[in-house]
Amino acid sequence: MPELPEVETIARGLAKRVTGDVVESVWLGQKKEPLKSPAREIAAALERGRIAAVRRMGKHIVFDLDHVERALPSASSGQAMPAKSRGAKRSTQAASPASAEADRSVRPTQSHAQWIVHLGMTGRLQVCEPQDEVLKHTHAILRLASGRELRFVDPRRFGRLSVTHTVDFDAGGVEPLEVDLAHFLNLFHGRKAPIKSALLNQKLLRGVGNIYADESLFRAGIRPRRRASSTTRQQLTKLHAAVKAVLTEAIALGGSSISDYVDADGEEGFFQLQHRVYGREGEPCLVCKTPIKRIVIAGRSSHYCPRCQK
Ligand SMILES: [Zn+2]
Repeated sequence: MPELPEVETIARGLAKRVTGDVVESVWLGQKKEPLKSPAREIAAALERGRIAAVRRMGKHIVFDLDHVERALPSASSGQAMPAKSRGAKRSTQAASPASAEADRSVRPTQSHAQWIVHLGMTGRLQVCEPQDEVLKHTHAILRLASGRELRFVDPRRFGRLSVTHTVDFDAGGVEPLEVDLAHFLNLFHGRKAPIKSALLNQKLLRGVGNIYADESLFRAGIRPRRRASSTTRQQLTKLHAAVKAVLTEAIALGGSSISDYVDADGEEGFFQLQHRVYGREGEPCLVCKTPIKRIVIAGRSSHYCPRCQK
């Protein structure tokens, strides 16, 4: 399952490849699960949209789309316009021929939409040539003005595609890479939940997953089961730095292998940070040689060193 660093890497890779390109048309598959917004809304938001930016928010990939539409000449293409605006145009014409004349000139109107992709467990976004084989489990194909295609492939269908028009997408929580210390301390204040659960709570920090939570807690010397409210300011200060360091290192590792995630033939799995505790149950701690323990907190595996972490 792609974690925040992988999603960041994918978003950066896509930004390099498709920013500035224009979506000419959209094909959506029959499977309902991947479509969080109705198919016609997704198509309407994407078609003729210029990709102004691609960025990560939490574990979502957000495509900012600008639509530059030309106002239709009033007389000849009246049929293509909604009845309401046709009526409005007619009355303008009747009242003032001069302004009707002005209406015929090209008048760009700009609108903004966002396409939001959550990759779920197995979702992938691929930049393809049209002749590339369309893989099984392809749920969306965006045909781009550059001649390429952007495809969404997801065998297990936990990924989600949605669009917003009016308000900007809000992923909830704060960005772990951007949050300042004061805000970070505040997130955990008075919380009785285990610190590990609080780290995974997407309403607090968005996008910190299980692996990076364990690795951050190890570096900060905090046991995963420790109540958030009982951690000291000093520990949380260490944790604040550890979360950023772990995620930043993982992103840096991913930067060199961007093509693995977005190429049509990129079958390689995600890169992995050298884990110090995650998945190392029974193996010696890299610091003190004590065997790493594994416990389950809120249904998630948690790994820690019983000596280094308090
Ligand atoms: Zn240790």
